[in-house]
Amino acid sequence: MALVNKNYANLKESYLFADIAHKVADFQKANPDKKVIKMGIGDVTLPLSKVVCDAMAKAVAEMAVKESFRGYGPEQGYDFLHDALVKYYASFGVELESTEIFISDGAKSDCGNITDIFDNSNTILIPDPVYPVYLDTNVMCGRNIIYMDGTPENNFLPMPDENVHADVVYLCSPNNPTGAVYNKEQLEAWVAWAKANDAVILFDAAYEAFVTDPAIPRSIFLIEGAKECAIELCSLSKTAGFTGTRCGYTVVPHALVRKNADGKEMSLNKMWLRRQTTKFNGVPYIIQRGAEAVFSPEGVAECRASIAYYQENARIMMEGLDKVGIKYFGGVHSPYIWLQCPNGMGSWEFFDFLLNELALVGTPGAGFGKNGEGYLRLTAFGSRENTIEGIERLVAKLGK
Ligand SMILES: *Cc1c(COP(=O)(O)O)cnc(C)c1O
Repeated sequence: MALVNKNYANLKESYLFADIAHKVADFQKANPDKKVIKMGIGDVTLPLSKVVCDAMAKAVAEMAVKESFRGYGPEQGYDFLHDALVKYYASFGVELESTEIFISDGAKSDCGNITDIFDNSNTILIPDPVYPVYLDTNVMCGRNIIYMDGTPENNFLPMPDENVHADVVYLCSPNNPTGAVYNKEQLEAWVAWAKANDAVILFDAAYEAFVTDPAIPRSIFLIEGAKECAIELCSLSKTAGFTGTRCGYTVVPHALVRKNADGKEMSLNKMWLRRQTTKFNGVPYIIQRGAEAVFSPEGVAECRASIAYYQENARIMMEGLDKVGIKYFGGVHSPYIWLQCPNGMGSWEFFDFLLNELALVGTPGAGFGKNGEGYLRLTAFGSRENTIEGIERLVAKLGK
C-alpha cells in the first residue's frame, strides 16, 4: 500500500491570492465602468532588457547549428555564468570561488530543495510575517518550526534572542513582504548567533539589486565569518525581470561544514552538488546566456534603469502616504511598501475599503502571518501612470 506524505495534511490552505482575485472580479462585475488599479502585484511588469534578449537570440541561433548545438550542460551551471557571477559578487566586495555558486531555475525551487540536505530533526526558525515558501517547504518535511516576531517595535527586523535555540534560520533582506532591510550590525549579530548555536542561516537575497546604500550589505557574505554559517539564495527574477524566464543562483561556501546525526563532518557544498547532480539537470543554455548578459556592463546598466523606474514608483507612493499620514515600512531598498492600515482597520477591512471606495487593490498583510494583521502590502511594480493615478485617488479620499 502506497502511503503518502502525511505532512501535506498539515499545510494550511492558502486562499490569499484566490480570495483577492474573487473580490476584484466581483467588484469589476458590479462596477464595469470603474478602472481597477492593481497595486498588489508581486511580479515585474517591465520587459527584459535588450542585451539579455539579444544574448538569448544568439544562443537560439547557436542551437540551430550542428557545430554549436548543446545538449545536457553541467547540472550546476556553465562556467561562463559562474565567471560572470564571481565578477558580480567581487564588484560589491565578496570573493567567491566559482565552485561555490550553483545555477538554478530560481530561488523558490532552491528554497524548497535546500531542505534535502538538512536532517528532519532540525528546529527551523522563521520570521513572521514572511514569504510563505520557507514555512510550507518545512511543513512538508514535518519539521519543528518556531517563529520570531516582526513588529513595528523592531521595524519588522527580528533579531536573535539568546534564549532561542534553532538549527536553521531563514532571513530575507530586503524583505518580502515588509520591505525592511537589515544593516551590517544586525547581520553581524545573526552570524554571531548562528556560530554560537552551530546553526545555518539561509539568506534570501532576491531583492539585493534594490539596495542603493553601499553601507547596507547586499550579501550575507559581506559579514565576517558568514562563509562558515550561511547559504545565500538569489535570483534574477527581481534583479532583471526573469520571473517568467527562470534563473537563479545559490551560494554554498566550501567553508560551510556541519555534522550529521552520526557525528560525521560533511561539506554542505559537496552535499548540495550531489543533490543537484542527482535530481536536477541544469538551466537551459539559452537562459544561462541571457543571465550572463545581465551581468555585462550594458546588462547591469539596463537592469538598474528598470529598478530605478520601480524605485521612482515607490517614492511617489511614499510621498502620497506621507501626505495622508499613513505610517509605512520599506519602500526604499525594496519594491514593497508595508503600510499600517489607518484608523485601526484590519488587513481585510482596509483591503475592502480600498477596493470598494477607490478601486485600488493591495495585498492584505494578514496573508503573510499573524503579525501581518493590521498591515497591507503595496508594490511598486506597476506602471508609472497607474501608480500616480492610484496614489492620487488615495490622497483625494483620505486627505480630507
Ligand atoms: C520573488 C522572490 C524570490 C524569487 O523567486 P524565483 O523563484 O527566483 O522567481 C525569492 N524569494 C523571495 C522572498 C521573493 O519574493
